[in-house]
Amino acid sequence: MKCPLETREERVLVAYSSRTLDGGDKELLEAHLQSCSACREFVRGQREVWEALDGWEAAPVSADFDRRLYARMQREVSWWQRMRGRMGLVPVYRALLPVTTLAALVLAAVLLERPSPPRVPPQPVTAQVEGLQPDQVVHALDEMEVLDQFNHMMKPDSSTPRM
Ligand SMILES: [Zn+2]
Repeated sequence: MKCPLETREERVLVAYSSRTLDGGDKELLEAHLQSCSACREFVRGQREVWEALDGWEAAPVSADFDRRLYARMQREVSWWQRMRGRMGLVPVYRALLPVTTLAALVLAAVLLERPSPPRVPPQPVTAQVEGLQPDQVVHALDEMEVLDQFNHMMKPDSSTPRM
């Protein structure tokens, strides 16, 4: 027979190693193994794997495995919920995002770029506010407050060395 390793028929060797090859195929392969050290080596390696698997026994699952698993899942869920609770600001900001759109993001980016804690100069804001309806002013102030909070969120520790 042709060498199974050369004809990409390793499955014959694997079947032989797991003792599932029988009949004429087995006899042919055994005859080939007499003359082919590469195939003998292959079979030896496969047999080692099979013997290791035979000798391996899964550790028994402890009686309280389920209980501990569920307790751990519970802990991880509540950790996630705590995080979400702490980040309560984010949904508000997300809800405002369609309103403030890109302009707010650009403004925030500009504020974050400044080296010192930025404060919008009062005069330009006043100038912009003139001529606006009161509810528009309130809306604008709300947005500024959100941006300010966003700014603090992005810089929780002012002692961090700046780039
Ligand atoms: Zn061979």
